[in-house]
Amino acid sequence: MRPSSRPSQRTARDVSRREFLRTGILGSASLAALGSSACAWEQLSTWAQLSASAQDSDFVPAIVIGSGFGGAVAALRLGQAGISTLVLERGRRWDIRADGNTFATFERPDGRAYWLRDVPVDGVLGLPQLEKPIDRYVGVLEVVVGNGIFVGAGAGVGGGSLVFNAIIVKPRRELFERIFPREIDFGEMEDVYYPRVKGIIGSAPIPDDILATEYYRSSRVSLDQARTAGFPTRPVDLAIDWDIVRDEIGGLRVPSAIAGQSFYGLNSGAKRSLDHNYLAMAEATGRVEILPLHNVVAIEQGHGDRYAVTALRISDGGDVVGTPRRLTCKYLFLAAGSIGTTSLLVRARATRALPALNDHVGRHWAANGDIPVTRGALPLTNAGTGGPAGHFIMEDLDNPLGPTSLVELVLPPHIAAALSLAGAPPHFANYASLGIPPAIGSFSYDAATNVVALNWPGTDPRVANFLAAAKGTLAVLDRSNGSLTLSFNPFVSAHPLGGAVLGKVCDLDGRVEHHRGLYVVDGALIEGSTGLANPSFTIAALAERSMDHILAEDHLRDQPV
Ligand SMILES: Cc1cc2nc3c(=O)[nH]c(=O)nc-3n(C[C@H](O)[C@H](O)[C@H](O)COP(=O)(O)OP(=O)(O)OC[C@H]3O[C@@H](n4cnc5c(N)ncnc54)[C@H](O)[C@@H]3O)c2cc1C
Repeated sequence: MRPSSRPSQRTARDVSRREFLRTGILGSASLAALGSSACAWEQLSTWAQLSASAQDSDFVPAIVIGSGFGGAVAALRLGQAGISTLVLERGRRWDIRADGNTFATFERPDGRAYWLRDVPVDGVLGLPQLEKPIDRYVGVLEVVVGNGIFVGAGAGVGGGSLVFNAIIVKPRRELFERIFPREIDFGEMEDVYYPRVKGIIGSAPIPDDILATEYYRSSRVSLDQARTAGFPTRPVDLAIDWDIVRDEIGGLRVPSAIAGQSFYGLNSGAKRSLDHNYLAMAEATGRVEILPLHNVVAIEQGHGDRYAVTALRISDGGDVVGTPRRLTCKYLFLAAGSIGTTSLLVRARATRALPALNDHVGRHWAANGDIPVTRGALPLTNAGTGGPAGHFIMEDLDNPLGPTSLVELVLPPHIAAALSLAGAPPHFANYASLGIPPAIGSFSYDAATNVVALNWPGTDPRVANFLAAAKGTLAVLDRSNGSLTLSFNPFVSAHPLGGAVLGKVCDLDGRVEHHRGLYVVDGALIEGSTGLANPSFTIAALAERSMDHILAEDHLRDQPV
């Protein structure tokens, strides 16, 4: 099945050098040419059609939709509590292969890089060799094309942990308390839940011997520059097995982290993605089964106190295989990520499959103020090496327009090459700029197409302040160091948050209001920001907190009726 209409194609060649330098690595104008990611099955199916054709399947006590940070935590804790649990995951498994060829690389993207796309997003670079089509495949990185924003999200067993830059960082207390309801006690998060997640994922700061190598020069340069600008810095943990990185350096594993790879996956196996820890532990309980390549398209109230879930089995190419599967459960945990979970809820409310959902569903969304930034004219950085991310976060907490942070990311080698070709001043570094945006994004449902769309009012005056704050921080950094910000693109983000938020759609443990047994455990719970920190750590820690409370108070039972 194919989407009914294809957008007009604007090739990377059409992107002028000037425009490229202005919009940068993921230029919004160019991305628009790359097409909508609305799923074919969303467009072609209505709930009624699916429901009618669905094969009635077995009852399972608990279903978790999605296997990212929230889903992996929920699965493990349900399994340990003795609750038989099925995890439905749209993507495939990504077991590390001995030949070092599990994932695509930045230099040679193929279908494995993207979730059901025909061209890599890198086509915006204006390099003809990057324009070649890729096979449509259930690859690791989804690019959701919203109205006013492009959002990256992980797809596969492990969710966002497959594609993430492995940065594990918690917010400062004062920012956490500014954003989260005061009943969610930062002290408890810090004492109990963040350490619990860190212990299981096994994240750790970059060891000094690795930081001192040539590969991580850009990280050291960025740290110096932050200090020169007078910004406080603190180290971040990375979900990386540093011994494997040492093996890469020693030639015993395929160069992957050191070769500047990151969000298509690390072929050396250095990334501690959730399939290696939380999900493996969940399966080891003997109570949890993960079903990959099962795309959930609808949820509804079933008979009695059950929920019904309709899933399509899909092939590696994304085609639907067989008839839809309809499963019922007593406890339904939504963990399809902010966009996935919210889309399911918005559609369920609109189609009256879950008519009691309140008006806050599909609102209070933002992307963590996450803006990709590229800087140039730095001292020698050795750009294109030293992945998957920098080792520290710099914070501009006294910014008069609002607090902003910058965390260094890897600069993919072919992008460094493209920047040089385009005549950018040499010696680059890449960052995620993080701020606190107003959570004014929303989701809308089109009954004619059955599509849920994400809307981000990027030109709303309420957004201007946080953008100005981010630019202010970069201006101080550049002024103090004689460097240049080459790219600042507020229309691209990788940190979707909100849509079913705490205290509005759900209670403070993720229980959906008026829906006993229905829970949200992922980034949809968080109102647009995790307080200048990359979100995965907070999502997982909050899920741990929710599961503690749910298992202690809701008396979940592993029974068929
Ligand atoms: C390129 C990139 C780099 C990033 N780097 C970092 C970083 O370094 N540090 C950090 O903290 N954060 C990072 N993030 C953000 C981080 O990945 C997310 O915040 C986090 O993964 C969200 O967790 P989640 O549990 O909400 O959902 P996810 O981890 O996104 O998991 C959702 C899961 O649900 C599945 N799913 C979705 N819809 C359906 C459906 N209908 N049926 C079945 N399954 C479904 C998805 O395939 C996915 O596996 C990055 C994101 C991207 C895209």
